[in-house]
Amino acid sequence: MNTATEVFGSMVFSDSVMRARLPKDVFQQVQRSIKDGKRLDSSAASVVANAMKDWAIEKGATHFSHWFQPMTGITAEKHDSFISPVEGGRVIMEFSGKELIQGEPDASSFPSGGLRASFEARGYTAWDPTSYAFIKDNVLCIPTAFCSYGGEALDKKTPLLRSMQAINREGTRLIKLFGNTDVSSIKTTVGAEQEYFLIDKNLYEKRKDLMYTGRTLFGACPPKGQELDDHYFGTIKPRVQAFMKELDQELWKLGVLAKTEHNEAAPAQHELAPFFTTTNIAADHNQLTMELMQKIARKHDMVCLLHEKPFAGFNGSGKHNNWSITTNTGVNLLEPGETPSENAQFLLFLCAVIQAADDYQDMLRICVASASNDCRLGGNEAPPAIISIFIGDELEAILKAIETEEPYGSKEKELIKVGVHVLPKFPKDSTDRNRTSPLAFTGNKFEFRMLGSSASISGANVVLNTAVAESLRQYADYLEAADNFEEALHDLIKSVIKKHKRILFNGNGYDDAWVKEAAERGLSNYPTTADCVPHYLDKKNIELFERHKVYTETEIRARYEIKLDNYCKMLRIEALTMLNMSGKDILPAVSKYSKVLADAALAKRSLNLDIDTDFETGQVAKLSTLISKVAAETGILDHAVKVADDLSNTQEKAEYYRDKILPAMAKLRSFVDELEINTGADYWPYPSYGDLLFSVN
Ligand code: ADP
Ligand code: MG
Repeated sequence: MNTATEVFGSMVFSDSVMRARLPKDVFQQVQRSIKDGKRLDSSAASVVANAMKDWAIEKGATHFSHWFQPMTGITAEKHDSFISPVEGGRVIMEFSGKELIQGEPDASSFPSGGLRASFEARGYTAWDPTSYAFIKDNVLCIPTAFCSYGGEALDKKTPLLRSMQAINREGTRLIKLFGNTDVSSIKTTVGAEQEYFLIDKNLYEKRKDLMYTGRTLFGACPPKGQELDDHYFGTIKPRVQAFMKELDQELWKLGVLAKTEHNEAAPAQHELAPFFTTTNIAADHNQLTMELMQKIARKHDMVCLLHEKPFAGFNGSGKHNNWSITTNTGVNLLEPGETPSENAQFLLFLCAVIQAADDYQDMLRICVASASNDCRLGGNEAPPAIISIFIGDELEAILKAIETEEPYGSKEKELIKVGVHVLPKFPKDSTDRNRTSPLAFTGNKFEFRMLGSSASISGANVVLNTAVAESLRQYADYLEAADNFEEALHDLIKSVIKKHKRILFNGNGYDDAWVKEAAERGLSNYPTTADCVPHYLDKKNIELFERHKVYTETEIRARYEIKLDNYCKMLRIEALTMLNMSGKDILPAVSKYSKVLADAALAKRSLNLDIDTDFETGQVAKLSTLISKVAAETGILDHAVKVADDLSNTQEKAEYYRDKILPAMAKLRSFVDELEINTGADYWPYPSYGDLLFSVN
């Protein structure tokens, strides 16, 4: 087996496998439970479990695992073997319906943000039949949600599924008003483009910063950077090519729609784009993609870096979250369509996203916030930390014409009446390619570009789904009560544009002028995680998630705690790593190099040459000054970490990290990087940026 079509999905317990292996009535029960989210009864579950086990064993599996996504952002699994002892010292292979439906991992070591303090400590995992079971490394993996016995979601999947229900509920109400009687449900779809770096494993292992924190904390810029733009879409090097080939094969086996692989802007940076799919499946698939990237890179003696900013001065990595809404009849609701009615429907859903982004700017910022993504957002390759929407000049002009009731069109100007007129055509290409926009409409979907490369896509899609569900709810309330649908619709769209147009921005988001203009427009700007996360607890945000049954207030508080706590912990590890590197490796190495120089200077002097100054003496003096500065900054950083450790309030601690520790880290780094430039390559204790970025061939 090696053609893509043969390999694809071969390790997935998919619909076609189920149809072939399950009795017809059980297959239908599973389909119903996928559709309505109802639990399978226990006798059907036993039949499914047995069929799954037989299939898995034929494929070489020996264990099963409930596969879930705790709030750490990575996936968790605990393997149990299928064996069960029988008389005569033998074993048989067993897997029961109960084991399929529910598991009880020890929840106590996963972050719960205080949920465990107030509730039952134990958690359980519950099968999510909407995402297929699959085999990975001889383990049958069963995608599950992870909850406490009190019912609180302890994971990233449960809220995502709830947010999909919310947008389905409100969107279906609305779509019916447009006379689409054939539509029974809507869902969101996502294609998550994944950026990453590949570096040589031997070099990686020589860098404590990469090993402990995923990014370089020191490193002087090499003579060549990315200024020649010669890497983007460039020829893929053989080692990378071999990695990508194996990655594609393995992802295809798991039914992941890996589609495009190419080089990115920075040296050693690459991207994988999958074909889009249902949001919760896209989330599972992205987790698998990240996991396999790391595993397969190792097999090729490389390491895959998923950190948002592994190298200062080079582009960071993001995860463009392409998001759209589609009906069960296959209509993309963010596609303009051809008829007045389709156009009107499109405009209303477009408005729903515009309003959602404006009303919940803070939540869109929060859902991408982390210490690592803070290194990237606002840098001039990544979108700024200010939320705005790019819809392209043509579409913006159309919205303006509707709002102001001014005629639109360059030649034959006409008034646009929503629901009556066909929208003037706007070229799809012109709606794309504003790379600086955090949320860009790209013709038939929105591309949310703030998400970091290492993050789970769940949090961002929970916010997109729920915030848009809220716009849709308001529109459905209003339109259901209207006497004249067409009139009401026109007025509604007009008023939404008027109220929320401040969030539309087609200009250059990297420009300083935008920061000023955004402030004048009243848009929020939260540069760091410490700045935005407190707004999680704003009344309007708690109301949003409670109203749509996505998070309870307790669940939001837990997530707020975890985000802040994680921010402080990450930065603490970084600070300690810097202290360790500077104290244990860098200062001793430079001191050694200085001694060699000083000895050489002395030796020269003993020759009584007729020179006043020599390179060695000058260099020793320079290194001496720098070493003192590094030692002093190391002391300051060390002290600051101790002060932070004594702070008990997490918000205060996060602010202290932002205001005191990050600047101290930056200062220490600047002196160390200068030392690196001035120290002989043989003496510097770490591989340089040049080695790391240009060595994979
Ligand atoms: P590019 O951004 O390079 O121009 P595309 O626009 O073709 O590429 O697609 C980018 C990503 O958006 C892909 O992962 C693609 O599958 C995804 N995508 C395309 N249509 C949709 C949709 N309706 N919903 C969600 N994602 C989509
Ligand atoms: Mg894209």
